[in-house]
Amino acid sequence: MPDDRRVDVVVVGAGFSGLYALYRLRELGLSVRAFEAGDGVGGTWFWNRYPGCRCDVESIDYSYSFSPELEQEWSWTERFPSQAELRRYLDHVADRFDLRRDIQLQTRVTAAHYDEAAGRWTVQTERGDRVSAQFVVVAAGCLSTRNLPDIPGREDFAGTMLHTGDWPAGGVDFAGRRVGVIGTGSSGVQVIPLIAEQAERLFVFQRTPHFVVPARNVPLDEQLLARTKADYPAHRQRLREGFFGFHLELNGQSALEVSPQERTAIYEARWAHGGPSLLGGFSDLIVDLQANDTAADFVRGKIAQTVHDPQVAARLMPSGYPLGAKRLCQGTDYYETYNRDNVTLVDLREEPVQEIVAAGLRTTAQSYELDALVFATGFDAVTGAVLAIDVRGRDGLALRDKWAHGPRAYLGVASAGFPNLFLVTGPGSPSVLSNMVVSIEQHVDWIADCIEHLRDRGLARVESTPEAEEAWVEHVGEVASATLFPIANSWYLGANIPGKPRIFLPYVGGVGAYREKCDAVAAGDYEGFALSA
Ligand code: FAD
Ligand code: NAP
Repeated sequence: MPDDRRVDVVVVGAGFSGLYALYRLRELGLSVRAFEAGDGVGGTWFWNRYPGCRCDVESIDYSYSFSPELEQEWSWTERFPSQAELRRYLDHVADRFDLRRDIQLQTRVTAAHYDEAAGRWTVQTERGDRVSAQFVVVAAGCLSTRNLPDIPGREDFAGTMLHTGDWPAGGVDFAGRRVGVIGTGSSGVQVIPLIAEQAERLFVFQRTPHFVVPARNVPLDEQLLARTKADYPAHRQRLREGFFGFHLELNGQSALEVSPQERTAIYEARWAHGGPSLLGGFSDLIVDLQANDTAADFVRGKIAQTVHDPQVAARLMPSGYPLGAKRLCQGTDYYETYNRDNVTLVDLREEPVQEIVAAGLRTTAQSYELDALVFATGFDAVTGAVLAIDVRGRDGLALRDKWAHGPRAYLGVASAGFPNLFLVTGPGSPSVLSNMVVSIEQHVDWIADCIEHLRDRGLARVESTPEAEEAWVEHVGEVASATLFPIANSWYLGANIPGKPRIFLPYVGGVGAYREKCDAVAAGDYEGFALSA
């Protein structure tokens, strides 16, 4: 292959993970080529341009820590950054660190095949590129492969069909239109109030009600920003050592050891503070069902107080799964939206969807005429993007076959049989149960250190051992089963994708404990990995 087709590392994706991987690996003096399917950088914050899209981790936590200069020169404007602000930030990062020259946009990677004799990967793209690389870093995103449910007649719809995860760059004008939204997870909860303000009629098709807490986004307090900028190193260190990777005031008490009045007062204060703070209300909310019920009851009480029509309120009340076991949604005027005259909640548990027709959507009870249909139906999470690539390791082993009964990865970063292939925030790492920027930086740093370690010792290859991988997968499952998470039919378990194996995907042990484990593995000469020349 000509020289420009031979690089040290191929990076797949140019979101938070891919951009940092490119920066970090280039700093090591490696030649790196990044491929990005979209026509811009930013990943999640490039694609999810729907109205209301906003991060639910605070901006001073949800940002890179690798560059003190970047930390000082960038000033966040809101407590929870909007999609537009995050996209500007990531564009700025790409420019500031001159990353674009090594990123090939509008280029989807379709295959990565390992040649054992050469010790190299051949990476192919849908545009016909073939690049040879010693290492591949898959930074393709945990929530980047859209889930478009296979509802009969979907192709017949004559109106505008949209998915929140692939929103048109120029926006959509819903004025005077009859709009349907399918899905009431985090994306639906954000987009519904804004479409309701514009559309003539809005029908929300809800299958499972989610717990929604108020975000209470506000302009970022300038003094807080100044204090944080003065204290960033210590601030970041606290996040890295903590549980979720974002600041959350944790109350160490059990929800069951205080009086009902005290408990309600704590929940009220956290509801007023907004964001994810309710989850930190008591120490046992994600491990004890009785404790969890107290928080769930509190939110159900808020729904009853907010929504005027008691029947609609009842339909919006989640039940049958613990609060937080499906991702806790953060909203702005979400429940209030159902008091509007132009909004109708359609409960798909009472009247399941039958089909989509040219003029709209039909349930078992009636037809809804629609000019636009929005799918807020989520993603094939964590494994979707990597398995969309035809990855073949030693002896032609296909990753899709290896993971047919569920993903297996050591520390969520590597899989046995696939030497020199790294996953950023892969299955079995804290990933989607953490502030992902903290997890991304930790993974990329670990990967870069590992590659540097190999080079320093004149080694060429690193591969996880099957034994270490099995032990880790078992540990991930054990930790999850000590919590309430597996009780819910959530995408954390793959339950949203028909036929997807049910495995709890993220590691629930917390980012601090996970980092310690990764550091110990590295310090122990990459224990659980086979390193070779
Ligand atoms: P992504 O940002 O998904 O980037 C991956 C990129 O890889 C994409 O641009 C994709 O086009 C590209 N790609 C995929 N496959 C290929 C291929 N085969 N070839 C070439 N390119 C490919 N996390 C939080 O911690 N807090 C939040 O509040 C939060 N809010 C979110 C809100 C939304 C709407 C969504 C969808 C996710 C949210 N997340 C949140 C998770 C978010 O995905 C991560 O925080 C983070 O942005 C992930 O960065 P990434 O680079 O790993 O992946
Ligand atoms: P999601 O949480 O998976 O929600 C998808 C919704 O679509 C659910 O209500 C689901 O119902 C419904 N649905 C799926 N298939 C359906 C079908 N065939 N018929 C009817 N309803 C169907 O997806 P998301 O809202 O896009 O969020 C995904 C994740 O992205 C979040 O959990 C979060 O991690 C991240 N995110 C974060 C933010 C934020 O931080 N602010 C915003 C958006 C997204 P069921 O529950 O019944 O399956």
